[in-house]
Amino acid sequence: MIPNIYTIPLIQLASGDRLSLQVYRFVGAKSGKKVYLQANLHGAEIAGNAVIYQLIEFLKTLQVTQLVGEVWLVPVCNPLGVNQRSHRFASGRYCVYEGKDWNRIFWDYEKSQDDLEEFAKTQINLDIDTIRINYSNKIINHFATLTEKIHSPSSVPFTELFRYRLQSLSIDADYVIDLHTSTDRGLDYLYYFSSRELSAQYFLLDYGILLDDYDGDAFDEAFIKPWLALENTLRQLGREITFDIEAWTLELGSGMQMTPQSVEKGVQGVKNYLLHKGVLALKTKAIAHEMTFRSKSQVTKYYAPVGGMVQARVPLGSEVEAGEKLYEILMFNKTGELPSLIDICAEKDGLVYDVATNHAVNEGEYVLAVM
Ligand SMILES: [Zn+2]
Repeated sequence: MIPNIYTIPLIQLASGDRLSLQVYRFVGAKSGKKVYLQANLHGAEIAGNAVIYQLIEFLKTLQVTQLVGEVWLVPVCNPLGVNQRSHRFASGRYCVYEGKDWNRIFWDYEKSQDDLEEFAKTQINLDIDTIRINYSNKIINHFATLTEKIHSPSSVPFTELFRYRLQSLSIDADYVIDLHTSTDRGLDYLYYFSSRELSAQYFLLDYGILLDDYDGDAFDEAFIKPWLALENTLRQLGREITFDIEAWTLELGSGMQMTPQSVEKGVQGVKNYLLHKGVLALKTKAIAHEMTFRSKSQVTKYYAPVGGMVQARVPLGSEVEAGEKLYEILMFNKTGELPSLIDICAEKDGLVYDVATNHAVNEGEYVLAVM
């Protein structure tokens, strides 16, 4: 199967050069679900590009009858972020011009919607597929109005144009998969949303973090929050529905790296998930993998209480107990005294799943995270 390839102009630079997005779209013989995958929204988080490449290579080997529905793949989905450097390091987490995190800019229909309960009441007795279509149309129609401002003489700041381009590719999807890594060094895990634990297990990862408190306007959130809001409202009205709409952020290892093991996990996980969803019509059966689930509100990030150099830090992946030493800070001074060592201990039990690359810290800088 050969994909359709679309090149979409994104931005013209001051020099006159243009940056673009490129979509690889595989369409199966039978219509069905739409799956949208993107990688590298944060500029330093490159592992997902290798995942997408391997998925393209895999999908190419299939017959059209072995794919049900569509798979859209967008590698290097944020050219401005991908190409940003500071010395030899890729930064690329923020749009420096607007001072915004590239993954906190997306259009969230839930925030502009003021008639949710009214709408839910009109849908309460309809079948789930009809509600799905009605609500999807409502979201898409509202989204379409954003173009007016974009094409007006006053136009919009770049992050609003960028989000429009990415969301216009994904707004009508059934499943959205956003491939990230740690900024620093991290384990492989995923972020998931309420009532989606069963599906999560098909990504074959060991850990999942429930987004029970939101970062605000992240890509996955902006996609699924309106649907979760509708599910909640219908529940309050006495109708229990979970739509087959899902959003995932996969965190695949470390920043600025494409760790082969993390890439492999990403590829196998996505394939198994697509098999589970019936998007891949193959003889192999999807398998669920036992996972440890945590909530985002339970995660503890440790920030340096003083400035200095981090040493004797527990390795990434360590299970720690409350009171156990996590790391020490070698602290210098300008008060005529000898340097000193300060121990930092765990506040509670947990797994060290992410650690900073830089061992020099100003007071208040990130050191590690425990789930
Ligand atoms: Zn990221």
